[in-house]
Amino acid sequence: MSLKIGFDFQTEGEERADAFLDDYELRLMFDSTRQSLGDGLKRNFRNVVCGEHGEAPRFTVTGIYDREKEEMDIQYHVDTCCQYFLLRVMRTLNQRS
Ligand SMILES: [Zn+2]
Repeated sequence: MSLKIGFDFQTEGEERADAFLDDYELRLMFDSTRQSLGDGLKRNFRNVVCGEHGEAPRFTVTGIYDREKEEMDIQYHVDTCCQYFLLRVMRTLNQRS
């Protein structure tokens, strides 16, 4: 069972004339964010599987970059085989990230 990690990164709002990041830099920022969040999850959940079902957690990381506020909002969505394992995964996620 290997860890499944999906990413869904988007931008919203109008680009500012004096934007801090242009499209190219924004793509680089998305890429490096994907990379570092993915590495972190792989590190923290390398051997974490449900004791009862033997399943690994599945993660979807959504990131929305607001071009007007120039802020990035990151959220983790976790999918597991059962509620009990979900609690364990959330605890690990909250501890280490
Ligand atoms: Zn389970």
